[in-house]
Amino acid sequence: MTQRIVWIVCLCALTAYAADLPVQMEELTAPEFVQAMEKSGKICIIPIGIIEKHGPHLPLGTDMIDAREVALRAVAQEYAVVFPPYYFGQIYEAKHQPGTMAYSPELVWMMLQETCDELGRNGFDKIILVNGHGGNNNLLPYFCQTQLQSPRSYAVILFQSAEDPAVTKKIQQLRKTSTGGHADEEETSMILSHRPDLVHRERGRDQSGEDQQRLAGLDNGYTGIWWYAKFPNHYAGDGSEADPQIGNLILDTEARQLAELVRSLKTDNRIKELQQQFYQQSLKPLETKQ
Ligand SMILES: [Zn+2]
Repeated sequence: MTQRIVWIVCLCALTAYAADLPVQMEELTAPEFVQAMEKSGKICIIPIGIIEKHGPHLPLGTDMIDAREVALRAVAQEYAVVFPPYYFGQIYEAKHQPGTMAYSPELVWMMLQETCDELGRNGFDKIILVNGHGGNNNLLPYFCQTQLQSPRSYAVILFQSAEDPAVTKKIQQLRKTSTGGHADEEETSMILSHRPDLVHRERGRDQSGEDQQRLAGLDNGYTGIWWYAKFPNHYAGDGSEADPQIGNLILDTEARQLAELVRSLKTDNRIKELQQQFYQQSLKPLETKQ
């Protein structure tokens, strides 16, 4: 074989190799990890779930399984690396229910910070958090805010899906129930669309998902017990009428928007540039132009 042919063969092999790169971090070999860093634009997605009760009819890992599905559908459109299954978050309100894994606030925090630090040390520049769990809705924006406390080599971006009115309308037309909030018609539909083997719709009415309103009339004050007061079964809505079409509409819309975010972040460096400028200025605030 001439040297030229060998070179062409090697190049083809390398291209095919890159095209076949796994998207899930745990499935990459170390040499493939180096290639994935390049192909992903140094972007890693951490789908964040939790292990908690999901009504009487859905698996404990529902949020983790669905958040991973959104990420996997997104990276099929725009390559990025997806972090291994992650289930450390805020879930104290379900500690009275079997199977809840409620780690201490310190551990939850350290786990996420050190995970980001380790991804940064390994070369990732941009870390996208994809939240699948409502109990993290205050935690994760606060976590992002605290990344300004001291310099980081990476940026943390929390994915936030936008409402698509056309999709919302279609879902409204398909929906059979009007209540919801947890393990409800929409959430049950999501997991039903890709893991029907884990869904037990016929058990959806074994427990009540109705609002018990046990703090009714006590307005204008926030308390951590609010959710337990309303939904002691850790179930809000009715999952027995789930429909995989609804699930696919939700998951595909989120995946499309996440893929758009990944695509934008591959060429747009403004977050990291502004962070660097901010870190420099925050070292010497007296020198900041007034
Ligand atoms: Zn859930």
